[in-house]
Order: sequence, then C-alpha cells, then structure tokens
Amino acid sequence: MALLRHLIMLRPVNHVHLDFHTSEQIDDIGKDFDALEFINTLKTIDVDSVTTFAKCHHGNLYYYTDLPEQHPFLEKNLLLEQYQITQANNIQMPVYISVGFDERQAYEHPEWIAIDTSGRQIKEFGDQPFDSGWHWLCLNNGYQQKIVEVINDVIQRIGAVDGFFFDIVTQPECCCPNCKKAMLAAGMDPTAASERYRFARQVEANFKELVYQTIRSQLPQATVFFNGLVWQHLTELSIPNYTHLEVESLASGIWGYEHYPLLIKYLQNGPLDTIAMTARFHKSWADFGGYKNPAALEYEVVRSILSGSTISIGDQLHPNGKLDNKAYELMAAPFTLVKKYWQTTRTSRDVCDIAIYLDNRYEDSNLFSAAVAGAAKIMQESHLLYDIIDASADLSNYKLVIFPDHIHADENLAAKIAAYKAVGGKILASYQSLNESTHLLPLADIKPSNFEQDYVDISATHYICYQAGMLASPALGADCQHPIWEPYFNRSYRHFSSHFQTPEKAANGYFDWLADDASVYLAHAYFSLYYRNGNHIYKECVQQAVRQLITPTLAVVGLPTTAALGLRQAAQAEACIITLTNYVPLKKGDVYTIEDIPVLHDVQISFNDRTIRGVDVVDAQTQATFDGDQLQLDNIHGHALVTVFFNS
Ligand SMILES: [Zn+2]
Repeated sequence: MALLRHLIMLRPVNHVHLDFHTSEQIDDIGKDFDALEFINTLKTIDVDSVTTFAKCHHGNLYYYTDLPEQHPFLEKNLLLEQYQITQANNIQMPVYISVGFDERQAYEHPEWIAIDTSGRQIKEFGDQPFDSGWHWLCLNNGYQQKIVEVINDVIQRIGAVDGFFFDIVTQPECCCPNCKKAMLAAGMDPTAASERYRFARQVEANFKELVYQTIRSQLPQATVFFNGLVWQHLTELSIPNYTHLEVESLASGIWGYEHYPLLIKYLQNGPLDTIAMTARFHKSWADFGGYKNPAALEYEVVRSILSGSTISIGDQLHPNGKLDNKAYELMAAPFTLVKKYWQTTRTSRDVCDIAIYLDNRYEDSNLFSAAVAGAAKIMQESHLLYDIIDASADLSNYKLVIFPDHIHADENLAAKIAAYKAVGGKILASYQSLNESTHLLPLADIKPSNFEQDYVDISATHYICYQAGMLASPALGADCQHPIWEPYFNRSYRHFSSHFQTPEKAANGYFDWLADDASVYLAHAYFSLYYRNGNHIYKECVQQAVRQLITPTLAVVGLPTTAALGLRQAAQAEACIITLTNYVPLKKGDVYTIEDIPVLHDVQISFNDRTIRGVDVVDAQTQATFDGDQLQLDNIHGHALVTVFFNS
C-alpha cells in the first residue's frame, strides 16, 4: 500500500501540451530555442510534464533524422534538446505524433486520403480543393507503417521518451478503394453506413494495437494515448492500448462549457486515470496572440481538479522556438491551485445518488444525446448528486436510475432493472424509455400521439410541450396527474393559426405523470425538451419526480442555478469533500468566456443527520461554520473545496 501511494505521488499533475504545427514555408525553425530558458519557464510555474512534437499536422519532423520528412528549415535538433533538458530536470516529456492529419503524406500519397460517400476527399476546415485545411488520411493502407517508422526513429534518435500522444486517431467511414476492397473481403457491405462505421472502428483498433505493441516492445514504461473523435466509445478492443485518457475540451472552442462535465461523469467509472485538457488560448488551438481570460482558465482548471482529473494546458510554440511568456504567466496561478487541491482530491471518489443511463451503442461520434445532456443539466442545476452510466454499471450503487427519453430495454436490461427494483431501487423513465417493458413502470399500455405538440395541465395552467408526449394508460392503482391537452390541429399549409404552435383545444383523457412507490413515468421527453428549449416547467416536473422517489444525501439552500455542487468520499471513512463551482460563461460574438468571479454567501448544506465534527477549508477564501448536520459556507470566490469530518 505504501508503495502504491508513493507511485500516486509521482504521477505528473501539471501538464503542458505544446503544439508545434509549423508550415515548411516558414524558415528559421527553432532558431531562438534556448534549453535553459525553456526549462526555467516550465519550472517557474511548477510543470511536471510537457508534450512536445515529433511530427505535426503538416507532416514535418522536428529533430535531426535521415527520414525525408524533417522540417526543411529546422535550425536546431529541437526535440532532442527538449528531451535532454526535461530529463535533466525531472520533467516528463511525452512525444506528439499527428496521425489523421499529415499534409506532406497527403500530397506524396494521395491514395491514402480518406474518401467520403460522394467520392470527395475528406478535409477538415473546408472541403473544397483550394480551401486551406487538413486532408484526412485513411489508416487502412501503408500509412500505418509510416507511423511505426516514425515511432522507431524517435526512440532510436531521441531516446526512452516518457510517452506518446497520437492525435486525430479517428478512422473516417472511408469509401476509398482500399476500404471497399477490405470490407468486401471481410464479408461487409461498403454501401451500408453502419457497416462502414463498424469497419472504421476495427481499422482504428488494429492500428492502436500495432502502435501500442511497437512502443511496448521497446519502452515498457511509456505512456500511450490516442486522441480522436470517438475514443469515448472505448471498447474492450482498445482499452488495453491506453495507459490513461486525456480529455480534450476547450470550453471556448467547439467543445463548449457543457462537454467536459458530461464526459468526466461517464469516464470516472472506467478503469483509466484522466487528464483534463484545455488551452491558454482565448478561442481554440493556434489562436496566436489570443489569451484566455484568467477567470475562464481558473474555472476550467478548477472544475477539472475537483472532478478528480489532473490538468493539461495547451499552448503553441512559436516557429522560432521561444515560449510566449504571457501564456506561462497566465498558467501560473491555476497550476498553483492544482498542486494544492490535488492533495485533497487525488484519493477521493465521486458520491452519486442518481445515475443517468446512457446507451453507448449508437453509431454516432456524439456519445451524449440531447436527452442525456438535458438530464445532466437538470441534475446539475438542481444540485443533485449524479453519475452517467452505461450497461456495464451496477445499478445498486444508486438510489435512483433515470432512463431519459429514448432508452430501449432489451431482455438483459429489463431483467437488470427488475432485479434492481426488487431490492428497493427507484426508477424514473420518460417518453419512449422502457416502453417495451411496461411491467417495470406503472403502465398498462402505451402508444404515440397523432399530434406534433401538446399541452400539460399543471395546477390549471396549460404548459406547451414542443414535442407531444406518449399516450400512456395507467396500471391499476397508479397515481395519475397532469392531464394532457391536445391542440385543434397540427400546423400545416392547410390549416394554421397565428405565428407558432396551435392553441390547446381539450384534454385527451391521458396523463403526463404516472407513478407508484418505486417508479415515475413522465409521458413527455422532458430531458431533450429542457436541453433544447429550457422551459423551467420541464425541470420542475423532473425535480418533483426525484423528490417523490428519494431523499437526496445533501439538502442545499442558497445556491444559484449556475452553481455545480459535488460530494466526494475522502480516503478517511468519516470524512467527505464538498466541491462547488460557480462561474458564469458569457457570449461575446461567437465565443463563450468568463470575465468575472462572483462571490457567494449564505449557502447552507445539510447532511441528513450526520453530525459534523469539524471542517477543513482547502481553498484560500471560503469561510465555513457548522452546527449539528448543517454546514454554512460564505465568501465563496468562484469555487469551494471543503473537507467535512463527521462523528462516527
Ligand atoms: Zn480508406
């Protein structure tokens, strides 16, 4: 055990990901790189690990080599100098190799470029021949060996590097001649999208296995990570080829502020440690001269460390090899917080009352449906403790399992839910979820509505539902509430009334809310509806169902909707950790960012009769007092990290 703790302490915590995609039309590459200046900048802000570049998206190599892809204007043996100085200073250095994008190989081997279903080359950032952007390379060809050649060359010329970061490892659903031929040989139908998706995942998995074995046979301790669009769908095939996960999620970029919290809730149940990756840029990668607001960077870093991840902050090295001092000044304060907070969070685990069930079998790079994202949003805004799970989870770890909107129960899932209910588990299902298994819900029969929209009568107010609910007949003895009203007609060119949806005409005899002691069924797709529209009443319906079914571990007063509350079990049995963030993203043009850090006062959290013995405020500003089972928090500057000790 002592040895294990020692190893955990050695795990790098503060990472920098140093991009270096540099055109071969720029000269003097690395001319001003100064190894001492480089390492001093990193050491000053307490960096433990820096990812540096062997091969970039342009296909250029940044070390002296006999391979023809060395950058034509490389002035220094950059990667080797970076390796030697980081090794000498006990900073880890994984090496970056671009896979899916390689402009040099795209021009030398146009037959390796992935082809879409219309026969066009697949490109990122524009699909026209004269758009500037990256061609996407197919992995089902000789390009795999080119990657292996670069890995071997790096190990031979640079040394026993600490790890490898492979980027853009996403095989498109490619229609190139190689892929069509290989699919036919495997008995697959290249014209079927689902078959192409399945084949692409297999090509990816084979590539990862080849690369992993290439590295493992030479460097048994090296870390290996493959970044890509669909790595979240980790299968049994590919998990053994990862040593950890790096969750790329730049809140001000295409990922947005909602991406990381969803993904980490799902990934925290897996076997691998996570590194949360953002960047110092105002917008997204390669935003030279664009600096993230300090409050925005603080939020992304703090929410990551409070969720049990370590942190990677991205930057891009200037072609001349000099680090941008402003960027490292910006990273200094967040990295200090990370080192301080990691001592508290590293051995803790998330405590969750409620599980949101996710069906990860969909053949879609977007793992999270609007229903799952909407459920998570409602849970977070309601300050309920939630998790996101899939079919592999043990339901008995949760007081309540939510099946949002579209979860179809096969025989295995239905049996699992029945067993869970038999030992006291509670379920909340909505809309089409579990419709095949009405015996699990207080339903006798169910069918779809003929209307596109309808209304729900709650306390004599008729609320619009922008997507009509199911027509559910209750089981004997079910509690039925909230009658459904139908409109005069569906809106069409033949009959419409006013600007928008048609007003309600009459109740149709069905109810939105059907409940018994162990389950609530809501006839509307409230989770997707809330995600897409935000009507407060949708959230209230879900909150009412949760309140009816369970007593949450925490009762909270005084937190705004924007605050995210978490509870983590500390290493000591009689202690837990309250995590809280409250930062408010603002839209500026096309960019979301954060400028100010609001201060919260008078937040009360009670622990349902667990008597508090003491508190330890880990962050620098929150003030905490307690009385019995009540914790009072004041002066919360954006976030709080408080360990609470209970009487046994
Ligand atoms: Zn292909």
